[in-house]
Amino acid sequence: MRIDILTLFPGMFTGPLTESILARAQEKELLDIRFHDLRKFGLGAYHQVDDSPYGGGAGMVMRADVIVPAIEAVMNEGMGGKEGEKGNKGNKRNRGKPWRIYFSPRGKKLKQAEVERLAKRDWIILLCGHYEGIDQRIIDGGWIDEEVSIGDYVLTGGELPAMVLIDAVARQIPGVLGKDESAAEESFSASLGRKKEYPHYTRPEEFEGLKVPDVLLSGNHGEIEKWRREQLGGRSRA
Ligand code: SAH
Repeated sequence: MRIDILTLFPGMFTGPLTESILARAQEKELLDIRFHDLRKFGLGAYHQVDDSPYGGGAGMVMRADVIVPAIEAVMNEGMGGKEGEKGNKGNKRNRGKPWRIYFSPRGKKLKQAEVERLAKRDWIILLCGHYEGIDQRIIDGGWIDEEVSIGDYVLTGGELPAMVLIDAVARQIPGVLGKDESAAEESFSASLGRKKEYPHYTRPEEFEGLKVPDVLLSGNHGEIEKWRREQLGGRSRA
């Protein structure tokens, strides 16, 4: 899967994308993540990317005449447009149209079923807002396919939401998780009826007077399975 990230702060992604499972997924070429610094598309000597809002008020709005050319440049490159005609530099093959996501608190809240749908896509573009957000015409003009929120709170930018989405989507891509890290039976997975998962225990058998439930030590797989089903959706401190 190819993921293009449009951001003013590519440096923020170091760490989450360069460690552990996500790093391995890229080494295995299951994930092809590319960064595009929106500043490079900025206007004038200062590479301006934002401006004050019409109608007044605090904050800065990211400009449509900066963001749209950036989206189009990435699309043209990946779809084998302008560059493709000259031999399609670096691309193994031309792709279909990417699915373009803008992160916004006003967007549709990200849920596991949507994560699974996104994982089936071949190519997504993630646009990270900053400051007050982006000019509405970028959305109204059809350059964005979907607005996604990661929850009802406001962050400083779309970079953390992008990392959350990539992490959740990546673990649904076959081969990304090792055999010890199956994605099949997890909280919100279809196989658990989209419910919260059952609790886990490991050694020692007794800790600070707290015992592992007997059934898990019984070796009776039927009973264990039954117990786990009964626990679904229950018990958390929330
Ligand atoms: N003025 C906006 C908030 C802007 S926050 C509003 O009131 O709705 C700056 C950027 O952070 C946004 O453009 C968006 O890309 C990102 N962002 C903030 N909170 C988010 C959330 N809960 N989900 C997804 N993206 C978010």
